[in-house]
Amino acid sequence: MSFRLANVAGRAALVEGEHYYDLETSSGGSLTSDPMAALMAHAELHAVAAGLGDMDPTGSVADVELGSPVPSPRSVFAIGLNYADHAAESSMELPEVPLVFTKFPSCIVGADADVVLDSEAADYEAEVVVVIGDGGRDILAADAWDHIAGVTGGQDISDRALQFAAKPPHFDLGKSRDTYGPVGPVLVSTDLFDDPNAISIECRVNGEVRQSSSTASLIFDVPTLVEYLSSILTLHTGDLIFTGTPDGVGASKLMFLAPGDVIETSIGGVGDFANTCV
Ligand code: ZN
Repeated sequence: MSFRLANVAGRAALVEGEHYYDLETSSGGSLTSDPMAALMAHAELHAVAAGLGDMDPTGSVADVELGSPVPSPRSVFAIGLNYADHAAESSMELPEVPLVFTKFPSCIVGADADVVLDSEAADYEAEVVVVIGDGGRDILAADAWDHIAGVTGGQDISDRALQFAAKPPHFDLGKSRDTYGPVGPVLVSTDLFDDPNAISIECRVNGEVRQSSSTASLIFDVPTLVEYLSSILTLHTGDLIFTGTPDGVGASKLMFLAPGDVIETSIGGVGDFANTCV
């Protein structure tokens, strides 16, 4: 069985079709409403989700604004230049090891949150984001998907002026302004993907397609990233890995985000979300 986990007004909920089911209620009180605690119990979510058909839904997804399914991750890893075509448009050499930076967790917001522009060089980066379920050290690539609770979507919003203000660049700060990390709309268990190593990504700005690719084109795929990171440090439940963005970012054409712009992101098997720039 499989599950779609959401965050409705700070409470964990399971989504089925158009409806959501409060997790504490639908589990008969055996699981709590805390979204981070729900992730700790990710193995139990399958059974609760399997029983939803007999229950009354809590409400309709269309009527609520979803928070990040992982509202307070301990670590947020992000991978730079992980698609060859994006490295080329950035005039950068292909990395020989994963280029890892952090988005500070304070930047994480719900999938449909407004993005508050603080500079004139803000840019979009649609990405597939994986969420660690059972963490640990020295996880082999062959076992990596067993350590992932599910897949969600993300926007690695980037202030290019701030990112490159320091030399060498400080990616971490440039990608961590408040609201620069929309995540969601839901966390989808990995068993719901035909091939979790080939998930489609599309990004549109004001309806115009800017990015269109698939994680099949990643230079370092998800199993390789999990093996690499866990060879260095301990991965924890709820840690996020932003896996990188394909070509088509605004910086390559000097087309930056402006107030009123709407960024739409579609992640295959996860769903769509939209962020308005304010
Ligand atoms: Zn990125």
